[in-house]
Amino acid sequence: MNTLGNYINGQHTESTSGRVAPVFNPATGEQTRQVVLSSADETRAAIASAQEAFAKWRAVTPLNRARVMFKFKALLEQHADELAEMITAEHGKVFSDAKGEVTRGLEVVEFACGIPHLQKGEHSLNVGRGVDSMSLMQPLGVCAGIAPFNFPAMVPMWMFPVAIACGNTFVMKPSEKDPSVPLRLAELLTEAGLPEGVFNVVNGDKESVDVLLSDDRVQAVSFVGSTPIAEYIYSTASANGKRVQALGGAKNHMIVMPDADPEQVVGSLMGAAYGSAGERCMAISVAVCVGDEVADNLVKRIGEEIDTMRVGPGVGLPEEAHMGPVISKVHADKVKEYITSGVEEGATLLRDGREFVCKGNENGYFVGPTLFDNVKRGMRIYEEEIFGPVLCVVRAESYAEAVQMINEHEYGNGTAIFTRDGDTARQFCEEIQVGMVGVNVPIPVPMAFHSFGGWKRSLFGPLHMHGPDGVRFYTRMKTVTARWPTGLRAGAEFSMPTMK
Ligand code: NAD
Repeated sequence: MNTLGNYINGQHTESTSGRVAPVFNPATGEQTRQVVLSSADETRAAIASAQEAFAKWRAVTPLNRARVMFKFKALLEQHADELAEMITAEHGKVFSDAKGEVTRGLEVVEFACGIPHLQKGEHSLNVGRGVDSMSLMQPLGVCAGIAPFNFPAMVPMWMFPVAIACGNTFVMKPSEKDPSVPLRLAELLTEAGLPEGVFNVVNGDKESVDVLLSDDRVQAVSFVGSTPIAEYIYSTASANGKRVQALGGAKNHMIVMPDADPEQVVGSLMGAAYGSAGERCMAISVAVCVGDEVADNLVKRIGEEIDTMRVGPGVGLPEEAHMGPVISKVHADKVKEYITSGVEEGATLLRDGREFVCKGNENGYFVGPTLFDNVKRGMRIYEEEIFGPVLCVVRAESYAEAVQMINEHEYGNGTAIFTRDGDTARQFCEEIQVGMVGVNVPIPVPMAFHSFGGWKRSLFGPLHMHGPDGVRFYTRMKTVTARWPTGLRAGAEFSMPTMK
């Protein structure tokens, strides 16, 4: 059995912890390899490697740090198909979707190539007579990243390219469910000329994470995953004096107004609800229809579309599937259990994915596309994140009721409104309590040069990922006030200094 280890100080290292976790191909249900679950000492070795590399890496000029990113970007382009195949083999999403994930990660690398411009700091001449002030944006030191299973390439690339380009060193803890891609990214970074120890990968579980949250050498922690773990990461690492950004779960609503273009709505909703088998933190899992007529038409059309969907393995079919399996058997069972709870709580089940079997891949972790109508607040399928191919249709009497529902939901990651009325759209953007908002755009994931992050229990910490917030997160400001040349000799001043 092929065993995936760690990548520390510029090379692959084997683990001596004696603990491993299986890695499966979700489309076949076969175990394809295993990954080490590192010990606390091995995690400390990765931190030590990053700590040692920091002194030299922070002294590399911003331009030369950016040049490594340029080379890394070129290597990502060259290896995009290989990376996408690795994603499909361990995550299950279809190949074109995996390729899109690589592209979205690569775009953050492109953004990181321009970081010298964003790290210039601030400067004021003559804040007092003969006195200048400058604010420096200095790197923090060793930063840690902890990633979820659903974007094994993109989410790590939300973090480390920005951190490294700013002059930090990094320890990445990937998801143990699909750990191959981050190890390959580490190899490509080395090939791009990144010095040893600047980027390290430590595979593991809670034991490794807890070291990253408590070791004094780690300055900042970036996390993406489920809300209970995000909350734990935020409170633990903050209590240990670290800077933290912890992105959590989601329940994204799309409001469909009576004046929306019906064809645009159906096309957008199908991709947003069922793409990647619903395992996206920006997936639309709730469609809020304003008025019964809108709802009646929508559920009819979505049902018809579901009946034409191809569900299957992410590679190897003559025509690519629209949707692949979910990540694991445990998760498939959990999604099915949610569907059962929806029926028990009184929602109308229009398409049922529980009994779906993929011909030729009978042991794969497939759940068919599922559609509920008449979903109500308070039901588990409405309140909780399912993270599977289940779309809930909720009927609202008015725009105001739809907005209230979204604003009172515990999550606030993404949302969208479909309407042709500019006033409604503008009002929605203004009053909705959600971090990422789409107007006739179903999955409004910000580009790399903007920042990504939700509100409420979808994000713990003040700063979002990548974009300007990413640079702020991975730098610490220092403000220097200088009188140069020395010139004035005013003598001692005992009251609060003010500039004259
Ligand atoms: P998860 O929370 O189970 O795991 C995320 C990471 O935390 C993994 O690396 C895992 O090893 C580690 N972890 C798990 N349990 C831990 C514990 N008890 N102590 C310390 N570390 C622990 O999440 P997942 O199932 O891998 O990913 C799916 C979740 O991620 C969904 O809730 C999804 O919404 C969320 N997500 C959010 C965003 C966002 O931007 N807000 C993006 C992607 C995914």
